[in-house]
Amino acid sequence: MEEQVIEHIKCLIIGSGPAGYTAAIYAARADLKPVMYTGFVPGGQLTQTTDVDNFPGYPDGIMGPVMMEDFRKQAERFGTEIRFGYATSVDFTGPKHSVTIDEVKQITADTVIIATGATAKWLGLESEQKYNGFGVSACAVCDGFFFKGQDVAIVGAGDTAAEEATYLAKLANKVHMLVRRDEFRASKAMQNRVLNTPNIVIHYNTEALEVLGDDQAVNGLRVVNNKTNDESTLDITGFFVAIGHKPNTEIFQGWLDLDDNGYIITKADSTQTNIKGIFAAGDVQDHIYRQAVTAAGSGCMAALEAERYLAAKEGDETFIEEDLYIATPNRSKV
Ligand code: NDP
Repeated sequence: MEEQVIEHIKCLIIGSGPAGYTAAIYAARADLKPVMYTGFVPGGQLTQTTDVDNFPGYPDGIMGPVMMEDFRKQAERFGTEIRFGYATSVDFTGPKHSVTIDEVKQITADTVIIATGATAKWLGLESEQKYNGFGVSACAVCDGFFFKGQDVAIVGAGDTAAEEATYLAKLANKVHMLVRRDEFRASKAMQNRVLNTPNIVIHYNTEALEVLGDDQAVNGLRVVNNKTNDESTLDITGFFVAIGHKPNTEIFQGWLDLDDNGYIITKADSTQTNIKGIFAAGDVQDHIYRQAVTAAGSGCMAALEAERYLAAKEGDETFIEEDLYIATPNRSKV
């Protein structure tokens, strides 16, 4: 039987959002010859938004998919090899880091930059997907501006929803907040901010049933009180879903330190994970800021750290074998 030839790469980047592409630009310019696997959605979450007005350098705003195309071109300009493929499993036993693509192709890498992002959770309504990007959004900071002076609704009762509702309240005329139970999950401080904001109307025990619209834009939301089964319609033009995000970290479970919500834990002021040579950038390790520009910033950090790591390793041949893992307090597996 023919033996499978395992490809070895100096710098493997998994994921193609702002973090992955920025890491690729820096890694390629540092001559790390990066290879990127894009995942199922080349360009990541931003390809599912419309206008991006808050990324510096685009004074007139830009469409999310166009911006990600610009990122891709810039990464390719310096020699990043971009491949369509999905990382399906890893083996970080070391000393080389092994990643399997699409369940068949095995790659080993000196450094791995994980930029697999996070996925916004959705309610699962057909109408929610129909109007996604046309009045329905999972990011108030990104899209709230488009609803200045209008009435909007937001679903969720955690810290994110509380934060986004108060953000929206500064822009919108009125914010209807749908809480499915009779209490919040958010911290007391965040709840108090919501309760003290006069133009937020809280609807407890209330769930969204259908986003209404004219096929072009949203013009209402059908809701139900789950205690009384009373249905009603809210007159809104924007609907925000803030029921949490899921970091795309399934394949790293058991290898990398993850927090209780599944985000990769990195060292303070660094993108370094608990395994040397493996870095994490962007939303996969950031549940707080979650912005394209912050993801891009941490992608830059990851590439610089990968470069320094390789330089250190080249000067010390025993570097990997002797010191592969970094002691962190809640490491799940070494
Ligand atoms: P959470 O998981 O904390 O909260 C999700 C919220 O969405 C809950 O209120 C939940 O309701 C609700 N929800 C879930 N599914 C549905 C559904 N199908 N229909 C209606 N409501 C639903 O996610 P967050 O994104 O808010 O927070 C994630 C983590 O990030 C938390 O640890 C949070 O503390 C942290 N965070 C901290 C911030 C800060 O400190 N400034 C800011 C933002 C996040 P229920 O309560 O009924 O389960």
